[in-house]
Amino acid sequence: MSLPDAFITQLQVIYPADRISLARSIREQHARDQSAHEAHLPDAVVWPLSTAEVSQTLRLANNARVPVTPWGAGTSIEGNPIPVQGGLVVDFSRMDNILTIHDRDFQVTVQPGVLYKDMNKVLARYGLFFAPDPGANASIGGMLANNAAGIRTVKHGATRDNVLALEVVLADGRVIRTGSRSVKQSSGYDLTHLFVGSEGTLGVITEATLKLAPIPAHISAAVATFPTVADAAETVFDIIGAGLEPTALELLDATAMRVLNTDPDINFPEKPALFMEFASSNEAALAESLALVAELCIEHHAEEFERGVGRQERARIWHARHHLFETHVRYFAGQQFLVGDASVPISNYPLLTARTARLMEEMGITGSLLGHAGDGNIHTLVFYPGDDDEARQRAMVFNDAFVALALELEGTCTGEHGVGLGKRKFMAREHGAALDVMRQLKQTLDPNGILNPGKVLP
Ligand SMILES: Cc1cc2nc3c(=O)[nH]c(=O)nc-3n(C[C@H](O)[C@H](O)[C@H](O)COP(=O)(O)OP(=O)(O)OC[C@H]3O[C@@H](n4cnc5c(N)ncnc54)[C@H](O)[C@@H]3O)c2cc1C
Repeated sequence: MSLPDAFITQLQVIYPADRISLARSIREQHARDQSAHEAHLPDAVVWPLSTAEVSQTLRLANNARVPVTPWGAGTSIEGNPIPVQGGLVVDFSRMDNILTIHDRDFQVTVQPGVLYKDMNKVLARYGLFFAPDPGANASIGGMLANNAAGIRTVKHGATRDNVLALEVVLADGRVIRTGSRSVKQSSGYDLTHLFVGSEGTLGVITEATLKLAPIPAHISAAVATFPTVADAAETVFDIIGAGLEPTALELLDATAMRVLNTDPDINFPEKPALFMEFASSNEAALAESLALVAELCIEHHAEEFERGVGRQERARIWHARHHLFETHVRYFAGQQFLVGDASVPISNYPLLTARTARLMEEMGITGSLLGHAGDGNIHTLVFYPGDDDEARQRAMVFNDAFVALALELEGTCTGEHGVGLGKRKFMAREHGAALDVMRQLKQTLDPNGILNPGKVLP
């Protein structure tokens, strides 16, 4: 669609020339995320500075029936912020203030455009950090909207578990506040968590109060390598069952380890591995935990167990793990990729990982298996030549089979990347009649369907 002239004129009343753009180059920057999903140009992009501007924008768009897609940092990998029906992209990068640090309550109130890594640098001065850690430098608004998670989820939960209150602008421009700064809340319907994970389809987040954690005094990382993915996956259950409370527990298959080794600072055996991190206020307790972890790994046939004690060694290991996606893209240069994301109860994790590894082998799929093992989440990174239709088709069939496997094992089609475009086709199978309730909620909150249309609901 192209935007009505009257609508543009009204937007220009809200936004000065440097905060509204119809330029093709700017629209192209907001046409795709980090996935291989097809790009779609929005018709215009605006950069609000305040809730009042967002509210006026939505009221106008709702009246004119113009699609509105919120935009954080564009790092999604399921097509979540792609404006598939054109219209307006609302880019939150200039609403990026940290409003209040409630350090004595372990909380922070922020605008949605703040990038979580930048926020954590500021919070470190108070000895605090926001634990959900998706690796990419995502915005808080995007993390809330996708319910992002990451390597710290095993200990601290996903973004959903670390938010107390929101300010949300509804499709018709009304501004509401949900939740409160009280850690305990039992008052009415839980609207905060309705908006978390709704991918900008139910409302637009303009402020959030988040829970913080103290930065631990002593941290240690360890890497164990195993003969098979199944051995590594089974160790996960025992580590958690022993009450060791890892702050990270990641699984990488042999291909991922081969790719990781292209980092000049890294040299591990190219075997399935667990990357682990433990934290404590007491150094002796930390050493004891690591000794027990080593024992458990050896019981599960670990061939090597490397302790990375101290912040520097830990930083080296996690830096490499965090950049593994980019390292893969470089390693398989010029190829297209498909990122899979599914999650199961932890008791089914060994089954999911072993069956997925077998499926990759049987189908001749090129790629890796890696995941946030501690919370039952696994990713597949599949690569194929862009001009090879047969290989592309095979990658899609594999991804469908992988998700079907997770659903069979009482899991979900997405542990953390969200539904976006790619996972809509699994929603009916996963949610059954509950999908109708989701549709009713969407109809109630956004009757004209202007908010991020074409996402989440099939
Ligand atoms: C290298 C790499 C590694 C990654 N690793 C992980 C990982 O480990 N775990 C993980 O969970 N994700 C991971 N991701 C995916 C991505 O970083 C997350 O999904 C992140 O939450 C996206 O945030 P963003 O700011 O980039 O949001 P965007 O991509 O800009 O938008 C995401 C969604 O949020 C909506 N949105 C944005 N702002 C608002 C707002 N203010 N109000 C309402 N809706 C809004 C958008 O419309 C869209 O639907 C990774 C991505 C990359 C590129």
